[in-house]
Formats: sequence, C-alpha cells, structure tokens
Amino acid sequence: MAYSTEIIIIGGGAIGLISALYLGAQGVSCLVLEKKSFEEVVQGKRHFAIAQDVVEWLAYWKIVDLRSFWIIQNAAVRMHGVCTEINFSSKRLGLPYLGVMVHEHILMEMLISMIENHPYVSVMFSENLERIWHEGNRIHVMNKKDKIYTGRCCIAADGKASWVRSQLKSKVLRFDFKQDASSGIVKFQGDAHTVWDVFFKDHCIGILPFSSHEAACILMGPSKKMLYSQKDDLLSLLNDLLHGKIKIFHFKQWDAHYPLTAGRSKEEVQELVLFLGDALEWMHPLMGQGMNLSLRYASRWLKNFPDALRSGICLKQWLLRSQQNNWKAGATVNFGALALQSSFRLTSWNIMRCTTFFPKIFEWYFKKTHITY
Ligand SMILES: Cc1cc2nc3c(=O)[nH]c(=O)nc-3n(C[C@H](O)[C@H](O)[C@H](O)COP(=O)(O)OP(=O)(O)OC[C@H]3O[C@@H](n4cnc5c(N)ncnc54)[C@H](O)[C@@H]3O)c2cc1C
Repeated sequence: MAYSTEIIIIGGGAIGLISALYLGAQGVSCLVLEKKSFEEVVQGKRHFAIAQDVVEWLAYWKIVDLRSFWIIQNAAVRMHGVCTEINFSSKRLGLPYLGVMVHEHILMEMLISMIENHPYVSVMFSENLERIWHEGNRIHVMNKKDKIYTGRCCIAADGKASWVRSQLKSKVLRFDFKQDASSGIVKFQGDAHTVWDVFFKDHCIGILPFSSHEAACILMGPSKKMLYSQKDDLLSLLNDLLHGKIKIFHFKQWDAHYPLTAGRSKEEVQELVLFLGDALEWMHPLMGQGMNLSLRYASRWLKNFPDALRSGICLKQWLLRSQQNNWKAGATVNFGALALQSSFRLTSWNIMRCTTFFPKIFEWYFKKTHITY
C-alpha cells in the first residue's frame, strides 16, 4: 500500500528540512525523502553566511534560532592596486547585524532534532528513488524497492544536480564562469566580525570569520592549481591587501574544490512539482547568497501554501498562477559576481568609479531582496 502524505519533499538538505518544518508548524503533513544516510547528512563541512532577515525569519517561525551564532557586522571589499576600501556596515543599514556564520553540521543537527517526534513531519534517509509521476491531482514517487509515496504536491529540494529535474526533463539554463573554487578554513588574528572579499589580479578570496581566530575561506579564480602553486605568495599578498585589519597566519584545511557555474531551472513549477533551493537555482558564491536567496524564495512560496492546500483549489493551477519570477534576484547576484570578478581587469579609473557605486548597489540589492513577513 502507498504511503500517503500532503507534501512529498525530495532532498533533506537545509532547504528541504526548513520547508518541511515551516509547513509542519502549520499542520501540513510532510514527508522528506533523502538519499544520504543520517550520518552523512550531519557531516556537512560547509559554513553558511546567513543574512539577518533570513535569521529573523527562521526564528520568527520557530524553525531554528541562529541568533546566538557568530555575528557578522560588516562586509568589506579590497582590490589589488586600489587604496580605497568598499564598506558595507550593519550600522549604516540600521540593522543589529548583517548576518551570522553557521556550520553546516550544526544547522543540520538542529533541524533534524526539531523533526524527531514531530507530529506532521517525517524524514526517510537512504532513500533510493526510481520514478516520479503524477495522476490527476496526486503525485507519486517510487523507490528502488517499489515502495510508493503519494502526495498532493512535491517540493523538489534535491540540490544542484536535481534528480527530479532530470526525471521531469525540465530544461536548465546554465552558465560556466570558467573558474574554479576551493574552500576551507584559515587561522587569523584581528577584526573578527567583518567578512572580506579580496581581489587579486586574476582571482578573489572571500574570508568569513566564524570564531575569534578562524574563518571560512573561499578562493575563486581561473584554476584550482592556484592555491598549491602560489600558496606562500598568496598569503603575503593577502596580508598586504588587508592592511593589518586582520592577519592571516595559514591555510588550515582545504576540503572542497569545484568548478564555478550558475544555473536555473527554466520553470519554477512543473505540474504538481515546485522547485526550491539549488534544484531551482544555483549561483556564484562570491556574494554568499545561495542559501539566503533559496530561503527568501521559499519564504514567499510557503507563506501561501497552507491556505492553498486547505482551500481545495486546483493546486496545479495555483502553482502555475503563483510563479514568482524570482530569477531577477539570482541574475543580479550572477551579474554582480561577473562584474566584481572582471573589475580587476579594468583601468584603475573604472575601479575607482566602482568603489563609489558598489556600496549603493549593495544597499539597493539588500533592501530589494529582504524578507517581509
Ligand atoms: C562550498 C560551498 C560553500 C557555500 N557557502 C555558502 C554561504 O556561505 N552562504 C550561502 O548562502 N550559501 C552558500 N553556499 C550555497 C549553499 O550551500 C546552497 O545554496 C544551499 O546549500 C542549497 O541547499 P539545498 O538544500 O537546496 O541543496 P543541498 O544542500 O545540495 O541539499 C540537497 C539534498 O538533496 C539530496 N538529494 C539529492 N538527490 C537526491 C535524490 N535523488 N533523492 C533524495 N535526495 C536527494 C542531497 O543528498 C542533499 O542532502 C555554498 C555552497 C558551497 C558548495
């Protein structure tokens, strides 16, 4: 016999679990199907920079309270060959903080512990899915052991290489930045509440403190070999550019190397499926917006979901009518990243012009994409 629920969520990453908790808090029954085991899910090594409005949204809905995490007060940009620094501070925006830094494994443990014994939300780990299809107003998912799950709607939150997207043959718009990224941890001393983007001639480093002496670090540029071939040079160049505001001692660990691409599913919805998170859109990491935009999109969609479910209207039509045209915010991030990445190739005159305008653009973007609830 088929397992029946209201919403089937495919993918138990941060977006899938948060969506389930949000809907569950409003009495909507959700089943999360995750392909990894529980142990793998809580071993994530990433660090997320989560923006203030997203932190407050999560706390407001009692999904998870991140306000005790490492606070980020400022964002600063430094460019090779330019003395001016671009600053973006919480004070100027009238916010208590810009965001927080969260370890992926702590976030995942918190989310999973919220789901244990939840009256409306369940998670199945190590699920190997075989097929997804819809019939009338129901959606069905079958695993490799022929077990069938049935729901009124499906949220595809299964990441960048979405299985649901490929099953539904949903088209994806892709862009290859022709760059690689390496991420890890650095040891430092100095201002521990400012995140930095430091631009060199042909690559860029983001430094995001998550304690008084350690920072998540992401290196982006034309080749992943750059880290190994120029490590010592890079360190002294980096410290020169940081002008003593923080001093980086050494690169502690590097555990992720990946090509930088951006992409978006052509449709936000398809029949009874709603795409969220990286399954919908992924972007350049330079502006740290992957998780933030995903949760902002989710907040807009999920807000009206319980009412739509209860009203008895045709969900397929409701989903189609409610498409959010969210691509604008993602496109801004990717164009912004492109502009920032290529700005170090412009003349210094142009760079100076950029430094005048960037803070304004950041502020405009920040206000434009904020969650209201
Ligand atoms: C190194 C790195 C650093 C980042 N840093 C930041 C940052 O600082 N700030 C920020 O905002 N964003 C950051 N991002 C982006 C951010 O991680 C993503 O945007 C966010 O995690 C997307 O979450 P998600 O739940 O959609 O996808 P994922 O986290 O990829 O989760 C998808 C889940 O679906 C599961 N799954 C996949 N296929 C199937 C299937 N067939 N069946 C069942 N389950 C399946 C996967 O196992 C996974 O658990 C970073 C990304 C990377 C790679």
